[in-house]
Amino acid sequence: MAGTGRFFVGGNWKCNGTVESLKKLVDELNSAKLEEDVDIVVSPPYLYISQVLGSLTKRIEVAAQNCWTGKGGAFTGEISADQLVDGGVKWVIQGHSERRHVIGETDAMIGQKSAYALSKNLGVIACVGEKLEDREANRTTDVVFEQLQAYADAVSDWSNIVVAYEPVWAIGTGKVASPQQAQEVHAAIRQWLKEKISPEVSSKTRIIYGGSVNGANSAELATQEDIDGFLVGGAALKGLEFATICNAVT
Ligand code: PGA
Repeated sequence: MAGTGRFFVGGNWKCNGTVESLKKLVDELNSAKLEEDVDIVVSPPYLYISQVLGSLTKRIEVAAQNCWTGKGGAFTGEISADQLVDGGVKWVIQGHSERRHVIGETDAMIGQKSAYALSKNLGVIACVGEKLEDREANRTTDVVFEQLQAYADAVSDWSNIVVAYEPVWAIGTGKVASPQQAQEVHAAIRQWLKEKISPEVSSKTRIIYGGSVNGANSAELATQEDIDGFLVGGAALKGLEFATICNAVT
């Protein structure tokens, strides 16, 4: 990592778990040995947020997987940033590729949600990432920069944002980006932040990698200069493996 902040690891549990299985997962996290120098968040489905917040004994924060674009009201099926804050949530994931490409969220909507969440003092894990066809057409940074620009158009203060670079082709596929592939895009993101936002934001923003991170590949990825942590899906559902990833900080 670039030494610009604490290592940051998020566990994105997606639409997985039951009362019983998440109790077991939290028990595993509570008894795991975790590095002091790492910020850790876990992201349960909404229904289980209270259960998880109430049973975590370690200094692990909770992130929601999404929120509405503004204040609550007549928006069936949505949850507002205000409600997340009310429930003790500190972070929210925005722009995850599954929300972009399965649910159809647009760049503009993601920017709006992020700005509203930040205005309520939630930290935002701002996801970006190219599809395989973009990479094959040499459009990786074009796509990533367009997605970053949509956040920049909506947001003025970057101090509560962690950028998550998650190539879509690596998510849930077992095809992790090589440390060099990830480092290349992370360095490009850092340069973009320097030119388009500010040198200060560029040096302070944590840029984390996501896409098939596991206990076996995290240590090498973590040696890369611009990789400041991870956003973990499948491997975050196993307490001990997630702890290994949290402890991969070098
Ligand atoms: P994965 O998911 O680790 O299962 O690839 C990562 C993510 O979607 O954040």
